[in-house]
Amino acid sequence: MRECGLSEESLFSFLLSKRQEDVDHAHILSSMCTVPHPVAVRAHLEFMETNLGDPGLFPGTASLERLLVERLGTLYHLPGACGYATSGGTESNIQALRMARQLAGRERPNVVIPESAHFSFQKACDILCLEMRTVPLCSDLRMDPEAAAEMIDRNTCCMVGIAGTTEYGMTDPIRDLSKIAGDLGVFFHVDAAFGGMVLPFLDGAPVFDFSLPGVSSIAVDPHKMGMSTIPAGVLLVRDSESLCSLSVDTPYLTVKQEFTLSGTRPGASVVGALAVLEYLGAEGMRDIVAGCMKNTWRLIDGMETYGIPRAATPDVNVATFAPARIPPPWKVSWTRKGHLRLVCMPHVHAGVVESFLKDIGEQNA
Ligand code: PLP
Repeated sequence: MRECGLSEESLFSFLLSKRQEDVDHAHILSSMCTVPHPVAVRAHLEFMETNLGDPGLFPGTASLERLLVERLGTLYHLPGACGYATSGGTESNIQALRMARQLAGRERPNVVIPESAHFSFQKACDILCLEMRTVPLCSDLRMDPEAAAEMIDRNTCCMVGIAGTTEYGMTDPIRDLSKIAGDLGVFFHVDAAFGGMVLPFLDGAPVFDFSLPGVSSIAVDPHKMGMSTIPAGVLLVRDSESLCSLSVDTPYLTVKQEFTLSGTRPGASVVGALAVLEYLGAEGMRDIVAGCMKNTWRLIDGMETYGIPRAATPDVNVATFAPARIPPPWKVSWTRKGHLRLVCMPHVHAGVVESFLKDIGEQNA
């Protein structure tokens, strides 16, 4: 490190010059994160120094984390759900599988996961030494429930379903999967990292939550469609006993046990997540989601007008297409099958969609 520190002015001139190298959100069509809502930023700044890793020192902030869990539990039809704020979908998925493995107590446990699952499950299986059984998808890109049922055996500790897949924005048949999990007595985790902040605010959306008795846990990420600051995920669990299976002793803290994966945890982004929910309410969230879906359909219509067909008809605001030439400076992504993938996050407003379509029209004419 430097022997003598920089002046504040030179330091920030250096830091901000690096920030200028980042891509402007106005051109980011590939990300499931977005510009945080102003109330999330304000809350984040107010709670910057809070640490949920030692909740007895920050009882006020800890009570706001509990309120966030309560609000989401209620949204998912289980007001008494327990859980905690994670760093995002990856941590929530790791912890859900860890919990399922502890509860099952098998020597050679396996998990049954759709082909469309996020790569965080690969990390989870690797860390937890779980055999990952991959379930094929039906032609509509949703997990095949019959194939899933066939893969379950006495060593299966968990089945996973996705509400809003990362690549194609599809929701697995969670109702059927919940029935299978209930009948076979298997822990059923729903990864709603993306869809959890979209589907509850859409009319006629598929059911994916605790109203289905077989659903054991849900991952949802406020730092995606919840417009919080980063990092903010939440893991929700049907019963406290499951969560307690993760408890370790923490003798030198203000609390004597914790079930989280991280020790030190930011309060700032967690309060940011709650702030958005409290400020917008369900009504405000419905407006945001309706706007994103409208833009998604406009994008699909516009691309198809240029002869670039959709790859899927999504349940959430992820649009996928046959390959096309993409002019700079647009940042898009590509699925494993080679489809063009665009995510209509709140920062991708109607003007951005029109300007993208204009550029695509010129490039692909
Ligand atoms: N699950 C799903 C469905 C996702 O789409 C993502 C990220 O895009 C994750 C999990 C991982 O979330 P994170 O990047 O916040 O760890």
